[in-house]
Amino acid sequence: MKKFLDENFLLNSKTAQRLYHEFAKDMQIIDFHCHLSPAQIAMDHRFENLTQIWLYGDHYKWRAMRTNGVDESYCTGDKSDWEKFQKWAETVPYTLRNPLYHWTHLELQRYFDVNEILNPDTAKKIYNSCTAKLQTSEYSVRNLLRRMNVRLVCTTDDPVDSLEYHLKMKQDGFEIPVLPAFRPDNAMNVADPVIFNLYIKKLEAVTQIAISSFDDFLFALQNRHDFFASVGCSVSDHGLEEIYGEDFTGSEVDTIFNKVHGGKMLNQVEQRKFKSAMLVHFAEWDWEKGWVQQFHLGAMRNNNSRMVQSLGQDTGWDSIGDFPQAKGLARFLDKLDSNNKLAKTILYNLNPADNELMATMAGNFNDGSIPGKIQWGSAWWFLDQKNGMISQLNTLSDIGLISRFVGMITDSRSFLSYPRHEYFRRILCNLFGEEIENGELPNDIDWVGKVVQDICYHNARNFFNWKLSRETTNVKRQTANGKRETE
Ligand SMILES: [Zn+2]
Repeated sequence: MKKFLDENFLLNSKTAQRLYHEFAKDMQIIDFHCHLSPAQIAMDHRFENLTQIWLYGDHYKWRAMRTNGVDESYCTGDKSDWEKFQKWAETVPYTLRNPLYHWTHLELQRYFDVNEILNPDTAKKIYNSCTAKLQTSEYSVRNLLRRMNVRLVCTTDDPVDSLEYHLKMKQDGFEIPVLPAFRPDNAMNVADPVIFNLYIKKLEAVTQIAISSFDDFLFALQNRHDFFASVGCSVSDHGLEEIYGEDFTGSEVDTIFNKVHGGKMLNQVEQRKFKSAMLVHFAEWDWEKGWVQQFHLGAMRNNNSRMVQSLGQDTGWDSIGDFPQAKGLARFLDKLDSNNKLAKTILYNLNPADNELMATMAGNFNDGSIPGKIQWGSAWWFLDQKNGMISQLNTLSDIGLISRFVGMITDSRSFLSYPRHEYFRRILCNLFGEEIENGELPNDIDWVGKVVQDICYHNARNFFNWKLSRETTNVKRQTANGKRETE
């Protein structure tokens, strides 16, 4: 019997172990999509205790606790931090086979050198020892990023955000670039005229541009796109149920804008046309600046109206939706490609039924200009677990080129989520290792090791075109013909 979570966790063959330990393990992390707080990084925040860094804002854990019968007051409510932790510790033994069980213990090991299993008996000791460590400067958030070998972070930011914290970090010379990503979901959300017009007010305030027409609206948003670029942004991101690929004319969109700006509700057709137009404009700006555009598709959000009303969004009431993806996506990408304005793109689906769809869709628009111009992104949110990752990696191998894959993102709000990269890398190495051992792949460890390193790091760096110095040099890095590559 193998030991739980030992150094060869998830690595079920000698070759998998070699691939992981010799090639993957020490590669730096490029986290090109997450939801970390730029303010906390800028201030080099220190968390007071283990509950605050680990349970606050973590809807994955809250969902598990609720499923385990824990009252809401221990999840998002007014119980003390220790009481909340106790309930989490009571829940953990019931999370067997859920990724939370692995993540919990990986995070305790990697950040805090705690090798015990978390349960009600060990809770007090673990809480106290981790909390004591969190008080030290070694556990400030910048040091946590350094500890995890993070090389670059992209946060997720609304066009009206001031980016003051990104600017501060640029100025104070923090060696890990923390770059904004342009996420204009609110600028497309015309379902509620009141909310949309409040957003317009914010946009007017931040740009000092009076908005009375669709052209003004676009001008103000483009102004923010330019500003984001000036702060180092080269990535956009969209969280959508589906891609809207309706036909629209300029005058139609002008009329729709005037209607919603005047406080009137739009019908479904008008909403879809407006969103389709906005997506094309955003995509063209991304193309003009050489940015990468990302689309997170298929979440059905805020399904429990009673709980969303009392706790707000992003508190754990979202699920996988069954929105049609193929047609809108094809029309949207084709419109851009036809006008030679298709930026580098990453598509993420939340519904696993769309896996093959996404992998084949990406292939339609790869034009040979760069390797993997249109990417099918890593298993995301509910699919960010062992089976979800294996399924995504296998389908990508079957239909696309896994060797050109830009790899894993954390997509997390927590500074303790970086072991998810380790988890991904172990699964990746296990897949390759197993197929070398059973003769499905040649025993060319240098080439396969290089491909593993590319997926862990180099593909993302090259795809986003980030110039990063101070890269890991102690990692064995070889080319196909066995020569050392120097960078
Ligand atoms: Zn995200």
